[in-house]
Amino acid sequence: MSQTEAVLPVYLDGHATTPLAPEAEQAMAPWWHRRAGNAHSPHRRGTEASVAVERARIEVASLVGAAPQELVFTSGATEANNMAILGVANAAQRAGDARREIIVSAIEHKSVLSAAASLEEQGFKIRVCPVRRDGRLDVVAFQRLLSDQTLLVSVMAANNEVGTVQPIADLLSDVRAVGAMIHVDVAQLAGKLPTCVADYDFASISSHKLYGPMGIGALFVSAAAQHRPRPLFHGGAQERGLRPGTLPTPLIVGFGAAARVAALRLEKDLAHVRDLADRLVGRLEAKQVRLQRNTTGSHQLPGSLSLRFFEVDAPSLIDALADSVCLSEGSACTSGQIQPSHVLSAMSFTESEMRETVRIYCGRYNDCSEIDYAADAIADAIRRMTLAHWTDPPVRSVNEGRSH
Ligand code: PMP
Repeated sequence: MSQTEAVLPVYLDGHATTPLAPEAEQAMAPWWHRRAGNAHSPHRRGTEASVAVERARIEVASLVGAAPQELVFTSGATEANNMAILGVANAAQRAGDARREIIVSAIEHKSVLSAAASLEEQGFKIRVCPVRRDGRLDVVAFQRLLSDQTLLVSVMAANNEVGTVQPIADLLSDVRAVGAMIHVDVAQLAGKLPTCVADYDFASISSHKLYGPMGIGALFVSAAAQHRPRPLFHGGAQERGLRPGTLPTPLIVGFGAAARVAALRLEKDLAHVRDLADRLVGRLEAKQVRLQRNTTGSHQLPGSLSLRFFEVDAPSLIDALADSVCLSEGSACTSGQIQPSHVLSAMSFTESEMRETVRIYCGRYNDCSEIDYAADAIADAIRRMTLAHWTDPPVRSVNEGRSH
């Protein structure tokens, strides 16, 4: 196994969260204490905080092609997704809009699927659009679901389990043709691939997926959207009345700095993480590990890998690697029971395909020595697991093993 100077375990789980960029950490530092102030206070500290918040808003807006005044800061993409779906449904109902159908893809984040499902009680119909085996939306099925009853469509730009990038641009003209609005969860795309939300009505962004701090995100609300979401919470008039609550200056400043760095490094990061992912797979293959890339090609988020290791139980592999490599499975363990991933199920994976699949994200701060170390550790763990499997005494029939 190659040696690494890196702190172990090697972190390859950037779909879940990315490490904070040092530039973001530095930018945040003064705002906790030395420059502390509420952006809505009338004094100098308040004004300084307000200026810093607005600068960050410009930086985030510029990363995703929005106008700064179209961004509402939230606690993350979960809240932004809820605000887009519940807030728009609420606004439409109040405005007397009779449309009651919402289309979501089958592989959306749970914060979209659950928020949409909760509207069924209020008479909304949720139409779930299937995806193909490659994890991309079934565009023909999508077109069939669209109608003049469609109020809102919510489709993610890139998936957090398998990294597939959706053909959003191909959906837009059909969505507009029926007069519906579109919300796009760009949490996994923003900062990793060029992102422009200007043609959408709503878009959700998460800071901790683009090397910013956790606990902050934003909802893009287009100035041209037919309905402006109703706020989820009651309180002050912050964020143009859409999201009450004191603005977390340090988090917003960190989010802004991370967005600025992401925009500057986009091309460099993209090439780096793509090379690392290829290097990882190449080294595993060179070590005769039997694997399959579940999602590949130009519709794959660079750095993102959904890998199936044949005849290897993914949860056991992740356990075996606990001290050396952080990767995760496409399944969530709920109350001791492994639930099959709704994403892989929607892609029509069999039970064994799901059980043998892990997700990996090679990120900006990983280097080649970490990737080599991780590949060697994975290959070793798989060899040990496979050996243990084959050295279990086989059950033989009475005739087996007799020489004639
Ligand atoms: N949407 C997607 C696609 C995500 O990957 C995530 C985070 N896993 C979220 C929404 C939720 O983001 P946050 O953690 O900022 O609430």
